[in-house]
Amino acid sequence: MSAYRDFHRRSIEQRETFWGEQAKLIDWHEPFGQVLDYSRPPFARWFVGGRTNLCHNAVDRHLAARGEQKALIYISTETGQEHTYTYRDLDAEVNRCAGMIRALGVGKGDRVLIYMPMVPEAVFAMLACARLGAIHSVVFGGFAAHSLAARIDDAQPKLMITADGGLRGGRAILYRSMYDEAIKLAKSPPARVLILNRGLDKELKLTAGRDEDYAELRAQHMSDRVPVTWLESNEPSYILYTSGTTGHPKGVQRDVGGYAVALAASMKHIYCGAPGETMFTTSDIGWVVGHSYIVYGPLIYGMTTILYEGLPIRPDAGIWWKIVADNKVTVMFSSPTAARVLKKQDPAFLKKYDLSCLKHLFLAGEPLDEPTHRWFNEMLGKPVIDHYWQTETGWPILSSVPGVEKTPIKFGSPSFPVYGYDLRLLREADAMEAAPNEKAVVAIFPPLPPGCMSTVWGDNERFVRTYFTSFGDKLVYSTFDWGIRDEENYHYILGRTDDVINVAGHRLGTREIEEAVQAHPNIAEVAVVGVADQIKGQMPLAFAVVKDAGKIDTAESRAREEKAVMDTVDKLLGAIARPARVHFVTLLPKTRSGKLLRRSIQALAEGRDPGDLTTIEDPAALEQIRTAIGSKS
Ligand code: AMP
Repeated sequence: MSAYRDFHRRSIEQRETFWGEQAKLIDWHEPFGQVLDYSRPPFARWFVGGRTNLCHNAVDRHLAARGEQKALIYISTETGQEHTYTYRDLDAEVNRCAGMIRALGVGKGDRVLIYMPMVPEAVFAMLACARLGAIHSVVFGGFAAHSLAARIDDAQPKLMITADGGLRGGRAILYRSMYDEAIKLAKSPPARVLILNRGLDKELKLTAGRDEDYAELRAQHMSDRVPVTWLESNEPSYILYTSGTTGHPKGVQRDVGGYAVALAASMKHIYCGAPGETMFTTSDIGWVVGHSYIVYGPLIYGMTTILYEGLPIRPDAGIWWKIVADNKVTVMFSSPTAARVLKKQDPAFLKKYDLSCLKHLFLAGEPLDEPTHRWFNEMLGKPVIDHYWQTETGWPILSSVPGVEKTPIKFGSPSFPVYGYDLRLLREADAMEAAPNEKAVVAIFPPLPPGCMSTVWGDNERFVRTYFTSFGDKLVYSTFDWGIRDEENYHYILGRTDDVINVAGHRLGTREIEEAVQAHPNIAEVAVVGVADQIKGQMPLAFAVVKDAGKIDTAESRAREEKAVMDTVDKLLGAIARPARVHFVTLLPKTRSGKLLRRSIQALAEGRDPGDLTTIEDPAALEQIRTAIGSKS
């Protein structure tokens, strides 16, 4: 592992030289005078004085060499539409959209809220904002009015860009009631709303003086050319609100130059893409993965990116593999939840298509259990690379870095600290570094590398207080994740520090117990939460989805299976971690991005209000939890 180690060491010990070199991967309108200004810790300013633009780097700079190359392939299995945009087409659409946005009064520094389904216009809108130097705030289309209103009030956008609706599993989700209600609720609503009419809402009405129809306005701006607004590297490019927080949402603010450099470098060293190749990221533009690896990363690197609207198993469980084969995808990026969904399907779907084009599959966003990791790796016959990051960082923190060295994969591990991150595992008690195999908090010694959040939008103090005060007077960034590393420096993420279970003074990660439960051969998926226990403080409770429901179809067999699961946990972790009960359900409550709503489950299990459920994928899942535990709330 010497190449990886040298590369990482250089990125920390010769930080400025290292990042100065990486900065050559993008275009600068004016060169930077200083690689890093860290005179005001923990605020890091990268490539100070340099002027650049995300849209220029993602679109304009490729026109000469690859104008006729596909830039964006849109595939919707919801509408049956497929559309391809070359870099030249993308340039034309982005300029039109920038002309439209400009005509609606938006200029440099203004915020634009994008509340869109997975349609190409969402990508045009993001790039158009970047072109104008406007700050986009993409809000996931699954958020309802209250969440939208909170984000409006925090970012105070001049304009909202939205659509009449999204589609999921053939069902239309109409947006009008959501944005109308949000605008009513918000204290500082956007004056203008630009609406893409997909023909989903037959009763769509435009509010006079406020709303504009996307197609109509576009027709007036067909030949617009909008000059790029060059931004100083540290000016804001976008705001993205972090999921899962209650109350006041936290706007992760990103810069321009650092982000562009970090993404370009990650395309080269981590994802091993190449200009002209195709990347398929199955996330949503509403999440950070969508920002970085559907939109900006692949385009900045001159790749073709795929924008997919639809489910992984519709029309059948082979759809993603068909897309990979048809489009010669070389780099694919998905989530552990999707991997688990696909694992439950007929493996023949994986074998049906020629996947020889694919170099590797990256997974991130939540813990990837070892059995799923192993299964997928074997079935695919390609490296499946678990990697770990956060909305805050914008690009991976822990990963194998195959562009530097192809290191062996250990199942269940996102491998090593990525270059640029001075990552340490710090003991919670004394903020000292943990020994190998000792569980501790994943922390990053600042300065954070380029691409990471610059601050919390509008609240520098909150940035420092939230992320840099977990370790006494040491100014260290906390990820709020538990981690562990083995003697070979392979790291494992054990779940959030804020989801910890404390059983009789023993601290246990829900993830550890879940892995143990999942080791039972009949368990497909499980959620473990800690519930209050009068004697032991907390007790773990498991809600599990089985693979073979035939094994739990009578009261006796259910009890037998429950006992078998508990025995598995006893065997792997010890009786201390044994769930008090294993409830069998057919569905777990998750957000649309696949994160388990552990806190809602926990609240229900403790007879409390389940809290903010606006992001829930399927409310029926919570009903099952209620029924399982016999809760009255
Ligand atoms: P988000 O900012 O919503 O993407 O969530 C970031 C959080 O997701 C991290 O703090 C982790 O708790 C979790 N996470 C992301 N990637 C991984 C991974 N590869 N393994 C384990 N947990 C992960």
